[in-house]
Amino acid sequence: MSDAKKLFIKTYGCQMNVYDSERMAEAMSAEGYTLTDVAEDADMVLLNTCHIREKASEKLFSDLGRLRPLKDARPDLKIGVAGCVAQAEGAEIQRRMPLVDIVVGPQAYHRLPALARASGPQVDTEFPAEDKFDHLPERKALRGPTAFLTVQEGCDKFCAFCVVPYTRGAEVSRPVERILRETRDLVSRGVREITLLGQNVNGYHGEGPDGVWSLGRLIRALAEVDGLERIRYTTSHPNDMDDDLIAAHGDVPQLMPYLHLPVQSGSDRILRAMNRKHGRDDYFRVIDRIRKARPDILFSSDFIVGFPGETDADFADTLDLVRRVGFGQSYSFKYSARPGTPAAEKAPVAPAVADERLQILQALILEQQRAGQEAMVGREVTVLYEKPGRQPGQMVGKSDHLHAVHVNDAGGRVGELARVRVLASAANSLSAVRIS
Ligand code: SF4
Repeated sequence: MSDAKKLFIKTYGCQMNVYDSERMAEAMSAEGYTLTDVAEDADMVLLNTCHIREKASEKLFSDLGRLRPLKDARPDLKIGVAGCVAQAEGAEIQRRMPLVDIVVGPQAYHRLPALARASGPQVDTEFPAEDKFDHLPERKALRGPTAFLTVQEGCDKFCAFCVVPYTRGAEVSRPVERILRETRDLVSRGVREITLLGQNVNGYHGEGPDGVWSLGRLIRALAEVDGLERIRYTTSHPNDMDDDLIAAHGDVPQLMPYLHLPVQSGSDRILRAMNRKHGRDDYFRVIDRIRKARPDILFSSDFIVGFPGETDADFADTLDLVRRVGFGQSYSFKYSARPGTPAAEKAPVAPAVADERLQILQALILEQQRAGQEAMVGREVTVLYEKPGRQPGQMVGKSDHLHAVHVNDAGGRVGELARVRVLASAANSLSAVRIS
C-alpha cells in the first residue's frame, strides 16, 4: 500500500448525492486521501445516505454491521455517515453503532476534513450560516464529458411523505456568478453537458447581477458559455414551471428535450392528501404547454402507489394519467412511511394491494418505455460519447432524449457529439451506427 490515505465512498440515492460524494472526495483529497473502490483498502469509509427510498436506515445499519469486522481488525479506520439519514437519525446512528466516528449532514460536509482530523466521535448536523460551496476546493474529479452541478438545495414544499424539507432544510439557491464560474471551469476541462441539480431545481431564485434570477434566465445565460453543448435539469415541481422556463424549452437549443417532472399520483384526492398543491388537470396543462414549446420532448415522472387512503379508483386515475401523458420512462415506488412526516401518522394500504398496484403500474411504464425506444429505431439522433463500450469499436453515450445508446464507431472519442442512426432497441438501451 502507498503512503497516500485511501477513501472509500458508497453513495446511495439520487444524483444530488452523487454530486455531494464527488465534492466530499475533493475535500478529502486536500487532506491527502485518494479514492479506492475497495472498502478493505480504505483508511476512511464514508456512507453517503439517502432517506427517500424505502428502508434507508435499515440498509445503512446492515452496511455498518458488515463494516464491523474491518473496524475490529483496524480500529484506526475512520467510518463516517453523511447525507439525509445522517441528518435525520444522527443520534440514533451513534447510539446503535459506536463504530461510527463521524456523522455529517448534507449542509455541513465542507467541514468533513476537520471532523476527520479530530479524535473521538464527531457529529455535525447543523445548517451552518456559511455557504458550504465557498469552503470546498475546486472541482477535480470529473467523470468524462458530463457533470452534475448543484444550483439549488432544500425544499419548502412539504409534501406529506417527504423528509427533504427536514433533512436538507429550506430552499437555498446558489448565486448566478458562482454557477457561471463553475460551469466555465468545467467546460474548460472538457465537460460538454451539465445537469443542474436541486431538490426543487425549477424553484431556483439565485442572486444575479441585477436582482433575482429564475431557472429559465440562468439556463439562457449558461447557453452562452462557449463549448457547453447540452443542459439538463432535475428534479422539478409542476407548480414551478414558469412561462420563461417553458419558453426556454422551445428556444434554447442546448436545453435537451427530456424532462423529469414528478407527479406522484393521478388522483386529485391523493394529490391533496400528499399536499402536492396541484391537481391532475394542472399537471396535464403544464405538460401540454411544454409540449407546445418543444413537441418532441420526453417526460419522466415519479409515482408512489399505496399512499395512505389510496383506493382502487384513485389508482385507476394514476393509470389513466400515465396513459394520457405517455412517459419516456418513470420511477415507481411503493409508499413507505418516513418517520416525522405527516403521512407517517396515517394507516397504510394493505401491502398485498400496494404490491399488486406497483406491478400493474410498472408494467404500463415499461410498455411505454419500450414503445418510446422502438419509435427511435431508424431515426438519426445525436449522441454524446461518455466512454468506450464493452465490445471492440463501440462507444456508449446518451442521446438528446437521454436514451443510452451503444454505437458502432471504431474511431469514436470520449466527449464527441456524433450523429448516429438507431438500428435496434434492447431492454434499456438503443444500438446505433455512426453516420457522420
Ligand atoms: S417537492 Fe420534492 S423534495 Fe420537496 S417536499 Fe415534495 S417530494 Fe420532497
